[in-house]
Amino acid sequence: MESSCIFCKIIAKEIPSTIIKENQSALAIRDIHPKAPTHYLIMPKMHIQSIFHMQDDHQMLVGQVISLARDIAIETEIAGFNLIANNGVSAGQSVMHMHFHFLAGANIYEHGLQL
Ligand code: AMP
Repeated sequence: MESSCIFCKIIAKEIPSTIIKENQSALAIRDIHPKAPTHYLIMPKMHIQSIFHMQDDHQMLVGQVISLARDIAIETEIAGFNLIANNGVSAGQSVMHMHFHFLAGANIYEHGLQL
């Protein structure tokens, strides 16, 4: 736990959030400023700043984060979803605790972005 990290405080239940689902290593909450009809944040419970800071022995942990996204998608019968991680301020990261934006219910490619 990083005492100055807002997501660590959410994980520790010191700050309220809408919890969607969790597993041993990961937590999914509703984004407070949703950018899509469904917008969740899926994060490791351990404080890792970003993918830049991921170490090889975090691979299982990060796998559990992605597994939580899969479980949510299957259980809620979502037809498709995007999983996006901003890494570093220059890539738009504002909360320095690794998280994946789980987006569904709208096509994120309708405004020019092409991958
Ligand atoms: P990023 O800009 O990729 O670091 O994403 C941070 C996300 O966290 C943004 O989409 C915010 O809306 C969201 N956020 C910030 N504070 C909270 C909070 N207390 N509860 C839920 N979501 C939050």
